[in-house]
Amino acid sequence: MIIDEVPMTVDFSAAPVGGSLDVRWIHGGPVAKRCADPPIQVHRYDPHTVIMRQSKAVHFEAPFLFLLFGNERALLLDTGATADPGPFPLRSTVDGLVADWLAEHPRESYELVVAHTHGHGDHKAGDPQFGDRPHTTVVAPDLDAVRAYFGFTDWPDRNVHFDLGGRVLEIAAIPGHHPASIATYDPWTGWLLTGDTVLPGRLLVPDFPAFTDSLDRMVALTRARPVTHVLGCHVEMTGRSGRDFPFAATYQPGEVPLQLTVADLAAARDAAAAVAARPGVHRYDRFVIFNGRCRGAMPGYVVRALWARLTNRFRRAR
Ligand SMILES: [Zn+2]
Repeated sequence: MIIDEVPMTVDFSAAPVGGSLDVRWIHGGPVAKRCADPPIQVHRYDPHTVIMRQSKAVHFEAPFLFLLFGNERALLLDTGATADPGPFPLRSTVDGLVADWLAEHPRESYELVVAHTHGHGDHKAGDPQFGDRPHTTVVAPDLDAVRAYFGFTDWPDRNVHFDLGGRVLEIAAIPGHHPASIATYDPWTGWLLTGDTVLPGRLLVPDFPAFTDSLDRMVALTRARPVTHVLGCHVEMTGRSGRDFPFAATYQPGEVPLQLTVADLAAARDAAAAVAARPGVHRYDRFVIFNGRCRGAMPGYVVRALWARLTNRFRRAR
């Protein structure tokens, strides 16, 4: 009798592979609470790689989260903006995705590592949902814990490797937006995951010298490795060049795609270098740089946010 051999080990060496970003992301509705978006949108980029987006009806930040499967463990990067599993069932969603993957690729034990692109609240609020999960490590999103867990010996200058089991990620320290920000390069997909440091939206930079150094390091990484997509954790740009949605927008019709290119990353690096000595808001085609606290720009954003809200009320009244 011939028994079909089940391929237990996934070969992640032939990379980067193609995947699909043919997806229409949920982006809220004119009346957030009546919006029909699911709480979490799940998109399979390839059989071993998932992108999730939190609904704007649950939290206006609507961050993107990433789940990468290796032969020995999966990495969940970020846990979203909401702690309560009622409106935001992240744990059950991830458990389902892990169970699906294990059904296709059975093994005796499998670990989940929950880590963060950085430690801001909209990327770690769901951590407690994983507190009692078996075979799970939740890496605290502070600098000491991140350095210790990933084994950084020369933060932020030397990158480290993190092995999911045949799928070996390269992790770069990219402080600037947050002291414990990391970028993750995945050779399997060719992705560079940049957190909130580079994304199609507002690049909020409290520590500008660290930010420009981090952009230099990321550009250097893209020169040494094949990068297919640069993926941040939010979309905030409208389809109009240099124009972002209001702060806290719960409806983003016509938002641009999530993915940026290596050229966009280099443009961000060049732009940051050019405005390093000029605090304030600087608009570019694909992103807006906020150098420092930018108090002068706030009244305009408040007016726009109020107008958006009034417009939404008007729509509801009709
Ligand atoms: Zn964020």
